[in-house]
Amino acid sequence: MISPYIKLIRMSRLVFGRPRAYPPRGAHKTRMSCSGRRPRSAGAHVRRPPPGRRVRCRPTGRRPPDSTRRSHGTGRSSDRISTNRLVDTRVACGLPSRHRRAGRDRGGRAVEFAFSPEEERWRQEVRDFLDAELPPDKAFNHEFVEDDELWEFAREFTRRVGRKGWIGLTWPTEYGGLGRPLTERLIMAEEFALRDAPFVNMIGYGLAAGTLLVGGTEEQKRRFLPEIARFEEFWAEGLTEPGSGSDLASLTTRAVRDGGDWLISGQKTYTTWGHRADVMYLAARTDPDAPRHRGISIFRLDLTLPGVSFSRLDNLGGGRQNHTYLDNVRVPGDMLIGEVGKGWSYIMNAFYAAGGVSARHAELQRMLGAVLDHCKTTVRGGRPLVEDPGVRSRLAELALMAETERLLAYESLGDALNGRTPAFAGALGHVVHKEHQPRFAQLIGQIVGPLGQLRAGSRWAALGGDAEAWYRASYANHAGGTSQVKRMVLATRGLGLPR
Ligand SMILES: Cc1cc2nc3c(=O)[nH]c(=O)nc-3n(C[C@H](O)[C@H](O)[C@H](O)COP(=O)(O)OP(=O)(O)OC[C@H]3O[C@@H](n4cnc5c(N)ncnc54)[C@H](O)[C@@H]3O)c2cc1C
Repeated sequence: MISPYIKLIRMSRLVFGRPRAYPPRGAHKTRMSCSGRRPRSAGAHVRRPPPGRRVRCRPTGRRPPDSTRRSHGTGRSSDRISTNRLVDTRVACGLPSRHRRAGRDRGGRAVEFAFSPEEERWRQEVRDFLDAELPPDKAFNHEFVEDDELWEFAREFTRRVGRKGWIGLTWPTEYGGLGRPLTERLIMAEEFALRDAPFVNMIGYGLAAGTLLVGGTEEQKRRFLPEIARFEEFWAEGLTEPGSGSDLASLTTRAVRDGGDWLISGQKTYTTWGHRADVMYLAARTDPDAPRHRGISIFRLDLTLPGVSFSRLDNLGGGRQNHTYLDNVRVPGDMLIGEVGKGWSYIMNAFYAAGGVSARHAELQRMLGAVLDHCKTTVRGGRPLVEDPGVRSRLAELALMAETERLLAYESLGDALNGRTPAFAGALGHVVHKEHQPRFAQLIGQIVGPLGQLRAGSRWAALGGDAEAWYRASYANHAGGTSQVKRMVLATRGLGLPR
């Protein structure tokens, strides 16, 4: 079977071309590729650096003739680079300084993988906040844990984040935000993920806020965004229906005008947090005669209105979704967000508009850290697990997955900072993460062995039951779209291939 990494490397070569060879600092007669592998060019002499010597990626100074060059640019800043998305991107690595590398893109320009001192100070501020506000026994995965006491803490914790102004960190100040840079949002998300912070209401500060920013009326922005920024309302998402999942544009929940109001009927399903939420981000069909992508509108639905009911839908991972039933629910006209019929484009554009950045890699880093500790402290066959070659190779694979996702997240961030739509890295990041999730949990299961199948509560459970819980939760990876469908998004929106 071809490993996903080989596939990933092949795909990136198709898109970016083969990696160029770079020499170590001061080595004029030797050449070294960034990956430390022998470059393919005929006759190239490769020497590995002595142990402990740091290699910085530098350009060879040689370039292929124009006729053989693909669209990677020539190294002049005036070049138009169509496929290399790392150019001029100042991104942060979040690793200790000994791991940092200054790299170069194939056009020879610097790619900075370190944070600025101000960004490092911000990271420290976030860490100090977490030290003060998040006791380790209150950290939990709020997508898969239904413990009411922990949920009470999660709500209070999120309100405290709101009081700092950090929920709307990147939003304009007139709408309850702090107008801070996107990189700070990424840093915050990384630190929260590394501590498993129960920062709830992601539909509110993600999808709903993004839609308001993209299409909300001025009055809606001034009213709802500050409410979300203070966490006054908990939002659920009402997109999927029993007959419309991947093919969301086929949704049939109907909204009909009645005087100044709307009457809404239909069924939603998979509604995460619906039983805890106050309002729903609801997609409904307002024009059945329009082309299907243009007949959808978005509503802010008060879940206490007459005609709204739920039934539970428990998932394998230990969390709860819901079926949501809407029976002629009367919704005031001003609860339609933005314009009639524009719902599809709002859904598509909301994530980035709300300052959406992915820190899924930090979740993997947290899990990897726990497994690594386990391997250092657990003895099997008379030696620590971490000395077992089979375990080491699996640990390396886990680290590779976390690192791959980190770089894709930074590429997305770089795109966003430079005003490019993060279509490619964003779409590739989704595919990679969705396909990593089960594989990551399976590898952990192989490392910790059969005790990884025991649930929390058993004194023998590996990682206190986390290994088992991660395994079950990893199969909820179709939330937000399946990997097959994300592959199509990558092909069409990311690579521009025809449908
Ligand atoms: C844990 C969890 C939480 C969720 N939370 C919410 C929520 O809060 N709100 C909400 O609205 N939704 C939510 N969802 C729903 C989620 O968005 C859908 O499950 C997802 O979009 C897939 O839809 P589906 O389950 O109907 O699968 P289907 O669309 O029926 O797909 C079934 C299978 O067919 C494949 N398939 C479908 N179409 C194609 C195609 N064209 N080409 C190739 N393969 C295809 C899919 O990849 C999949 O393997 C949640 C789901 C989960 C698992």
